[in-house]
Amino acid sequence: MKLDIARLADGKEVIFRESWDPIDYDLNVPGREHKSSLDVEAIVQRDSGIIKVKVLLRSLLCLTCSRCFKDFEQGLDKVLNFIYSVDLSEKKIELDDDIRGELILDYPQKILCKEDCKGMCPYCGADLNIEKCKCSYSV
Ligand SMILES: [Zn+2]
Ligand SMILES: [Zn+2]
Repeated sequence: MKLDIARLADGKEVIFRESWDPIDYDLNVPGREHKSSLDVEAIVQRDSGIIKVKVLLRSLLCLTCSRCFKDFEQGLDKVLNFIYSVDLSEKKIELDDDIRGELILDYPQKILCKEDCKGMCPYCGADLNIEKCKCSYSV
């Protein structure tokens, strides 16, 4: 997302919108894939040499639980804040790398379908959320 800042008047809020294809932006990783485009909305405000950018990100994710290995959907709804200092000759700010970086840093270490997911029995493969294990591993 390129922000055209040349014509930004001081103090006035301007909104930029883009829709990112998760494939083009290489956002999908195993266990965490986007099921819809990533909607990016940047609310930009200039204060002479300072550009404040508030970014709203929305998408639908398909996640794989790291305990029971089931896929589930979860909405992504995220707010990022960036501050750039620019000189008067600068006409554009490129946001892509900053947004991608924040998104990737945000990947949780452990993805769980629910807080207390009981997971899958490592011996018989039973889903311990819905059934009692046949090999009584969970007892
Ligand atoms: Zn689970
Ligand atoms: Zn078992």
